Amino acid sequence: MTENALRALHSIEAIDLVPQNWSYTGEGNASMIFAYTGTNSELSGWVLRLLKCPFVNKADSSVSSQEEIKAAAHAKNKRTREGIIYTTDVIGPLIGDKYILPQRQVSVSKSFLQQLSIAAEPFRPEHRHNKKIDLERGTAILTRNMRRRSNVQGVHSVTVEIKPKWGFLPKSELITDETAISKCVCHFCMKQFSKPDVDPGNAFCTLDLFSGDPIRIEQALDCMSRSPQGKLRIFVDDTSVLDNELLDKSLIPSWDELKKAITNIVATDKLFPRLQFLQSQLDQYGIEGILPKFNRALSAGSLTTNDPCIGEWIQAAAEFEKRCNDNGEVSDKQAVLEFLISTTLKDISVMICLEPWPTLQIDNGRVLPEYTIAIIDTDMKHISKVPEYFRKKVVLASEYLRYNPDPSKRRLCYE
Ligand SMILES: [Zn+2]
Repeated sequence: MTENALRALHSIEAIDLVPQNWSYTGEGNASMIFAYTGTNSELSGWVLRLLKCPFVNKADSSVSSQEEIKAAAHAKNKRTREGIIYTTDVIGPLIGDKYILPQRQVSVSKSFLQQLSIAAEPFRPEHRHNKKIDLERGTAILTRNMRRRSNVQGVHSVTVEIKPKWGFLPKSELITDETAISKCVCHFCMKQFSKPDVDPGNAFCTLDLFSGDPIRIEQALDCMSRSPQGKLRIFVDDTSVLDNELLDKSLIPSWDELKKAITNIVATDKLFPRLQFLQSQLDQYGIEGILPKFNRALSAGSLTTNDPCIGEWIQAAAEFEKRCNDNGEVSDKQAVLEFLISTTLKDISVMICLEPWPTLQIDNGRVLPEYTIAIIDTDMKHISKVPEYFRKKVVLASEYLRYNPDPSKRRLCYE
């Protein structure tokens, strides 16, 4: 499919959106989420993702003309559209389309955005107040809602969000002595142990989640649920449940029941092994091997520090699939793009929705509720960040060694 055809396929839709039909459900660093509460069957089960921007001082904002604001909004919307295509046409074919949530870009008026901004204000957490809804955008993203409310009385939807992070230990021969520790301590554990006080919720390794071993997975889920950093979040009927105690006191379900169900899904669904395979194969050289390739590609002119166009990303994903089958050569440019796709896959969240709860099927003695599973936060990474990724890794390795000088006391990771 050509790039133009792709753009047309993912064009901006014009839907008449009514502010009163959308309720604030939460926000991350980049966007604010509103769930549809109206009766239009076309929108039922969808959420609206509104992109945010930093607060700007009045003195600074006066330098931008209306034309400049419009041009900036146009550029941001183009990136949003490319982000949707990146998810559906780069990440989707690699990970499996069934794990990708449908997304649509819709046009929104400034007054619609202003009204939602006012409506959200009382519910917003304090630490997110450094950003606001970008009123100049003109577009928003509609996505299928994984945190949903069941329509049947007494039946619930339980959704668990996990950030799996790195699922492998790097094995590249291009890793030098400076960062060689990363071959036996995973990226996640290096980060957790590169500080004086280790959070008790971090007494696990992300490789546990990818191990396929129910005991390791269950322990990891337990630790993640205790972490104050939101590594595992639970939503019952689209409402966030903050801790295990609350979950045990509520009518549905106990943490133990939920943990067992999620463990079985993580251990048996094909998503986690596929994610591990892609992360490691797309990152076969390590950042230590990628930086020289990046510099060489810049000198040769096959790459610039401007982000590749969407067609180049699609081609890189297709070439990766091809070279996995025929062990073909990897160009410098291809290696860098593969590394950045791997970086995307190390930053995603996995959403698992159990519905209806409680309805359990017994399969070979295992409890397997019906579930849907998808990945979110599949953002494109900027190519200009490659040198920074290298610097961060060198700093991380040296900090880890500073806080863990005695090899006999280090906790080593294993796949
Ligand atoms: Zn680890």
